[in-house]
Amino acid sequence: MKNIILIAPPAAGKGTQADMLCYKYNLVHISIGDLLREEIKKGSEIGHYLESQMKSGKLVKDKIIIDLLHNRLNENDCKKGFILDGFPRNLNQAEQLDKMNIKIDYVFYLDVEKEVLINRITGRVVCSSCGTVYNNLIETLKSKQENICDKCNSELIKRIDDNIETFENRYETYINETQPIIDFYRNKGILYDIKQLEKQEVFEEIVKILGDI
Ligand code: AMP
Repeated sequence: MKNIILIAPPAAGKGTQADMLCYKYNLVHISIGDLLREEIKKGSEIGHYLESQMKSGKLVKDKIIIDLLHNRLNENDCKKGFILDGFPRNLNQAEQLDKMNIKIDYVFYLDVEKEVLINRITGRVVCSSCGTVYNNLIETLKSKQENICDKCNSELIKRIDDNIETFENRYETYINETQPIIDFYRNKGILYDIKQLEKQEVFEEIVKILGDI
């Protein structure tokens, strides 16, 4: 059983890598963004707050995120090992995770330049049902049928925060709040820098490090 964290700027492809790695290693994919989007769909009171934070590219309050994660990690399937996609996003969250006494084995930092991210944001679409990510502007990441998910045939939609204005705020939040956790994990000796760009190359680089876990 191994527990893994993926750190990356917005639109770097952490969700896609998490899916591929979970499939290969039979791990559980925990996407905090997806958990928040599910909460928004329910139309609850807290959903309005979550939606406004997401739309403005700001982080959701730590207490809400920690509770959400804590509940998810207590579910039985997580015992087989998990990949955290989108957590931690700041130092306080990293410290709170330490306090949960859950061993993290590997942290992968996907280093992607801002210009590349902006190009990816423009074409990104996601499945409204299963969350699979596609990109209309990148040949290898297009769905087979326009606007239809290859996996479940549902409609592909644009995320509420995938636009240039929100991206600028998300990127700034990432630089100011999330980047400090890179050194936090580097100092623990469990951080691996992944400098590849293409989806398949990133995946292979990570698999080379993980081996047959
Ligand atoms: P993502 O799907 O990971 O790109 O996350 C989308 C948005 O959800 C972020 O821009 C934040 O508004 C919120 N979010 C996701 N993960 C976290 C987190 N760990 N802490 C606070 N807010 C988060």
